[in-house]
Amino acid sequence: MIKSINPYNQETVYESAELESQDIKNAIDAADLQYKLWREVPFSERSILMKDVGQELRKNAREYAQIITEEMGKPITQSLAEIEKCAALCDFYATHASEMLTDKIIETEAHKSYVSYEPIGVVLAIMPWNYPFWQVMRFAVPALMAGNVGILKHASNVMKCAMSIEKIFEKAGFPKGCFTNLPIGSKKVEEIIRNPKVKAVTLTGSEAAGRVVAAVAGNEIKKTVLELGGSNALVVFADCNLEQTVKTCVQARFQNAGQSCIAGKRLLVESSIAEEFTKAFLEGVKSLRHGDPLSEETTIGTMARVDLAEELEKQLQQTLEKGAVVLLGGKRDKAYFEPTVIGNVTPDMSIFKEEIFGPVIGITTFKNEEEAVELSNSSPFGLGVTIFTEDFEKATRLVPKFDEGAVFVNELVKSDQRLPFGGTKNSGYGRELSQDGIQEFVNKKTVYIN
Ligand code: NAP
Repeated sequence: MIKSINPYNQETVYESAELESQDIKNAIDAADLQYKLWREVPFSERSILMKDVGQELRKNAREYAQIITEEMGKPITQSLAEIEKCAALCDFYATHASEMLTDKIIETEAHKSYVSYEPIGVVLAIMPWNYPFWQVMRFAVPALMAGNVGILKHASNVMKCAMSIEKIFEKAGFPKGCFTNLPIGSKKVEEIIRNPKVKAVTLTGSEAAGRVVAAVAGNEIKKTVLELGGSNALVVFADCNLEQTVKTCVQARFQNAGQSCIAGKRLLVESSIAEEFTKAFLEGVKSLRHGDPLSEETTIGTMARVDLAEELEKQLQQTLEKGAVVLLGGKRDKAYFEPTVIGNVTPDMSIFKEEIFGPVIGITTFKNEEEAVELSNSSPFGLGVTIFTEDFEKATRLVPKFDEGAVFVNELVKSDQRLPFGGTKNSGYGRELSQDGIQEFVNKKTVYIN
């Protein structure tokens, strides 16, 4: 059974049986048939349909936002922002996909030589629950604009979101088979990847899921894009704008109840301002308001599932056993975890070494630039880092020293459709968004005409 439970009140939101293997095979056959038609549809027509998807999202934003909030506990204001972000993504690729995939002429001895960017077919997307609309659209919008078709295996706890997204594409006029939701658990993923009609796989999720999926796809010689976990550092230098830095750090860690791959998860603070910064940061965290996630007043929701909050509790316990101290919070009630700040954190502790996917952050101090960079880079993950300093020469000098997929200065790491998004090290490979994203699932065909 596939089931979603509202983490705020434990009520069942959705329940359905899983598809059987034959149903999955039929859906892939239908998607592949549609692909052969869809790839011939000109960009101008694809753009009209994609703009309609954006309009539908905006028109019924409240309805879709409420489904997100009920299935995974995010405050309604953040769910509404997620829907708007998806709509903007539709507009962006509807406008730019054609120019991003225009043939690239390359001068050689030939009469004409160029690269063309052609679709590849049915692409499987395996997606997580934390941004249940955005993660799916981030894959689907560029993939469909490029002429591919998508099949979705969404996280089991957000299946109502998955079904709504499928309906939105249909409502906007996309032919059936362009985007198909498969209500299945993760055990069925291997047979999908091994189906010859499925040409590539993209997964956003945990490192563990990434390893399993990439191994099967590798065995089948199929391309993968992996957007996995992260443990971004927030590096606070003594010459930062303290007030603004505190505000940004609170948001970077606690939005979406800390359940974001690119959340700032390790606070690294220059020792000379550690005391002053910590005091101000604790005040900032105390101002977060917990309550019914459907209320506009709520700024921090529950976590998405009780088992995730229990796991976080274990990581915190292990950290405290090694000598860290609770400066704020630390308690759990079912799926709600208090916003928590931990002091005296060292690199050997769980909270520093592992991904912490919830509203808990540890503070570690450093003495100089070299130590800050070393601490940041010591993580096995490499999604992004934020450095806070008013010295732009220093910021520019430090950027190349970080191993991450993104370095932000005086701003939290965030995704933006105009910029590529993706990680290094155990955070995965490949890029989403921008021109880089739309070019992941295309055949870059070399053409040489003599
Ligand atoms: P997850 O447990 O890995 O699940 C993600 C998706 O993978 C779900 O659809 C899940 O299905 C499926 N899955 C899990 N194990 C699988 C397996 N062995 N084979 C095939 N599919 C499998 O991750 P999550 O808990 O939903 O999400 C949190 C993780 O995602 C965090 O590590 C976070 O950092 C990462 N994330 C990364 C990004 C990024 O852009 N880099 C963005 C968001 C989240 P079921 O639900 O049915 O198990």
